[in-house]
Amino acid sequence: MVTVHGLHKRFGPLHVLKDVDLTVAAGEVVVVVGPSGSGKSTLCRCLNRLEVASAGRIEIDGEPLPAEGRQLARLRADVGMVFQSFNLFGHRTILDNITLGPVKVRRIGRAEARKQAMALLDRVGIADKADRYPAQLSGGQQQRAAIARALAMRPKVLLFDEPTSALDPEMVNEVLDVMVSLAAEGMTMIVVTHEMGFARRAADRVVFMDDGRIVETAPPDEFFAAPRTERARDFLSKIL
Ligand code: ATP
Ligand code: MG
Repeated sequence: MVTVHGLHKRFGPLHVLKDVDLTVAAGEVVVVVGPSGSGKSTLCRCLNRLEVASAGRIEIDGEPLPAEGRQLARLRADVGMVFQSFNLFGHRTILDNITLGPVKVRRIGRAEARKQAMALLDRVGIADKADRYPAQLSGGQQQRAAIARALAMRPKVLLFDEPTSALDPEMVNEVLDVMVSLAAEGMTMIVVTHEMGFARRAADRVVFMDDGRIVETAPPDEFFAAPRTERARDFLSKIL
C-alpha cells in the first residue's frame, strides 16, 4: 500500500531523512518511534506531499505521488493525516468540518455526505456534537472529530503524527481506543506516537528512527523486550 525507497529530505544544508526505505502492506499498522528531531514528522509529511522529497521514490497503492492540481487533492484524500493539534476549521461546525472534503474532493452529494458524517461521528462517540464548533469540544472530542474527518475521505492509509501528545492524560485513551478499533478493522495506519501501550496493542511493526534513518524494525514484543541496537535501548530507557 505504501512503498518508500531511498527517500532523502533536505532542508537547505540540513539532511533530515537519509535513505529511508519503508513498505507498509494493506491493513498493516506501523508505529514510528524515535527521539525528537529524528525525522518522524518529516517522513509523514513527505508521504502526503506536505513536504516534497529531495530524492527517492514514494508510491501509494502502486502510484507515484502526483505533483499538483486535482490529483494532489485526491492524494491528500487517499493519505489521510491526523495531527497533534487537531487542525479543525474553527469557524465551521463539526458536521461541516467532516462533510467539506467529501463534497469537494470526492464529489459526494451533500445529503449523502451528511449521512456518512453522522455515522462516523457516531462511531467515534460524538454524534451529539455535530452542530457544535470545535472550541466547544474537549481536546479528546476534537481529536476524535479530526479522525472522523479523515475517515470521511475514505483514505487508503491514515497517518497519525503524535495524535495524543496535546491531550490531557484523561483524554488520551478515548482517542487511542478509536485508533485501536480502526486498526482491528483493517485500516492501514502509520502512527508516530510515544504511547507504547498503543504500540503493544495495535502495531504489527515498530519502526525506530534516529538521525534521519530507520535504525530498527521489529514486531512490538520483540522491539520492547530485546531492542537490537544500543540507540533503541537508550531511547526506550528514557521513555519507558
Ligand atoms: P519530534 O519528536 O520533536 O516531533 P520529529 O522526529 O518529528 O521530532 P521532524 O519534525 O521530522 O522530527 O524534524 C526533523 C529535523 O528537521 C529537525 O532537525 C527539524 O528542525 C528539521 N525540520 C523540520 N521541518 C523543517 C522545515 N520546514 N525547515 C527546516 N528544518 C526543518
Ligand atoms: Mg514530530
